[in-house]
Amino acid sequence: MNSASRRAVFVDRDGTVNEEIDYLCEPDQVRLIPGAAEAISRLRKSGWLVVVITNQSAIARGFLSEDTLSAIHQRLGILLAELGTRVDGIYYCPHHPTEGMAPYRLDCECRKPKPGMILRAARDLNIDIVKSIVIGDRLLDMETASRVGARRILVKTGYGAGESVNLNAQAAPEYIADDLLDASNWILAADGEN
Ligand SMILES: [Mg+2]
Repeated sequence: MNSASRRAVFVDRDGTVNEEIDYLCEPDQVRLIPGAAEAISRLRKSGWLVVVITNQSAIARGFLSEDTLSAIHQRLGILLAELGTRVDGIYYCPHHPTEGMAPYRLDCECRKPKPGMILRAARDLNIDIVKSIVIGDRLLDMETASRVGARRILVKTGYGAGESVNLNAQAAPEYIADDLLDASNWILAADGEN
């Protein structure tokens, strides 16, 4: 496979990889969702890049510094490493269009549902977006994928069970998974059919 055709699974962070809590602001609050590390491991072993894309407006709102966010992501990396895996990148948006102060109070291009994080990761890692899949617990994640023609899977962890899905919507998920592990099984089963 040449480097320009790499496929990625873009995973939302909170409610998809780690348990959703309102404004996760401390490294020791990070808890992996059961099966998430196994899902990431299996996808990577099958040649998928796994890239986290996460809105972190807690930074704009002043609840969280970028240093603490970095410590949170280090903690996430340690928990994944303990289970034998890692992600290929973490992209976050620290902005909010109307809350907080400069430089974070910004109508940016990266806050989901805008696709800036996907576009940046695609440039950095030579990802073919149309062959890639976004997995998240919010319709917002599905909308983000739809804007750049990526495939999409909604997980029922986090806020996912409470989202009212319109399967006729343009940004409807292709599959609704119980969790990230179920999503990865679905992806790898579909790979096996091709
Ligand atoms: Mg989420």
